[in-house]
Amino acid sequence: MAKEKKKSEAKKKLQLGFYWAASCGGCEIAVLDIDEKILDVIGIADILFWPVAMDFKYKDVEEMKDKQIDICFFNGSIRTEEQEHIAKLLRKKSKFMVAFGACAVNGGIPGLANVANRKEVFDVAYLDNPSTDNSKKIVPKTSVKVKEGTLTLPEFYDTVKTLDQTVDVDYYLPGCPPTPDQIMTAVGAIVENKLPPKGSIIGPMKSVCDECRFEKTEKKIKEIKRVYEVDKIEEKCLLEQGIICLGPATRGGCSARCLDANMPCTGCGGPTPNSLDQGAKMISALASILGLEGEEKMSDEEVQKLIDQVVDPIGTFYKYGLPSALINRRVMK
Ligand code: SF4
Ligand code: SF4
Ligand code: SF4
Repeated sequence: MAKEKKKSEAKKKLQLGFYWAASCGGCEIAVLDIDEKILDVIGIADILFWPVAMDFKYKDVEEMKDKQIDICFFNGSIRTEEQEHIAKLLRKKSKFMVAFGACAVNGGIPGLANVANRKEVFDVAYLDNPSTDNSKKIVPKTSVKVKEGTLTLPEFYDTVKTLDQTVDVDYYLPGCPPTPDQIMTAVGAIVENKLPPKGSIIGPMKSVCDECRFEKTEKKIKEIKRVYEVDKIEEKCLLEQGIICLGPATRGGCSARCLDANMPCTGCGGPTPNSLDQGAKMISALASILGLEGEEKMSDEEVQKLIDQVVDPIGTFYKYGLPSALINRRVMK
C-alpha cells in the first residue's frame, strides 16, 4: 500500500528533459549554477533526458510516449541534421518546449557563422589553418567507407537556425546563459502553473538600461572606443564614454550584471520588447548620439571614418542574434 502511494506521488512529479544542440555547454552549467536550489528541483521533478549529465540514449527518447516529457529545456541553435532530428523528436515527446538561452532563442554566437557557409567554415577549420596539418585535405563527410563498414556523420548545414525556425516553441528564456534567478523564475512559474501565454519570453518588459546602475544624462559622443582604450571607467553611462553598450536595445532580466563589472552589455538578452531587430535598434541609437557636433559640415569621408570606428559591426550588433535578425545571413553566390 505504502509502496503504491509512493509510486503515485512519484508520478505527480514534473517530467523534465534537457538537451544541447549547437551550444557551448554554458547553459547546461547554468542549470547547475542554481546551487542548492537544484535539490528543490529534484524534489519536484524527474529528469527523463539530460545527455550532458546522465547516460541516456536517443532510443530512450524514441521509446517514450508522445508528450511524456512535461517540459523540455532546449539550449543551442540548430546547425546539423542530428540537432534538427532531436529537436523534432523532443518536440513530439514534450508538452512544452522552452528555448533556453540565447543560442536557442536567437541563434546565439554559433549563429555568427551565417556570414559564411559550410564550405567556408570547413576551409577555415580543416584546411586554411596554420595549426592544422591536413596534407590529404580531408574534411568531414556524411558517409565514409572503411574496411569495417560505412561510417556516417550528420549533415552540417550551411545556415544556423534558431529553435523556433525548426520546431514550434512554447516559451523563451534568453541570456547567455540565463541567470540562476531567471531559471528559478521560469521553474516557479511552471510549478505554480502560472505560465504566461504561449510564445512569451520569460523576462521583464524593460531594457538593460532600466536595470543599470550608471547615471544617464544627455549623450553626445565624438568617438567610439573599445574598453581597453579607456584608462578609467567613470561612473556614468558607458555610451557617454564612447563605449558601445547594447543596453538600450537589449531586454533586461539579468540585473545588468555585465555593467556591475564595468563591462558593456553585448546584448545576450535579445531584443527589447516590441523591437523587431536588436542590431537595427542599436545602430539607430548610436547614430543619434555619434558625431553630432558639426555633423552638418562633415564630409562623406569624415562620416565614413566615424562609422569605421565600429570594429566588427556584425559581431557588435548581432553577436547573439544574427539568425533571428531581419537580414539573417550573408547571401552566398
Ligand atoms: S546561450 Fe551562451 S551559454 Fe548558452 S549555449 Fe549559447 S553560447 Fe553557451
Ligand atoms: S547604455 Fe549601457 S551603460 Fe548606459 S545606461 Fe544603458 S546599460 Fe547602462
Ligand atoms: S548585461 Fe547584457 S550581455 Fe550582460 S548579461 Fe545582461 S543582457 Fe547579457
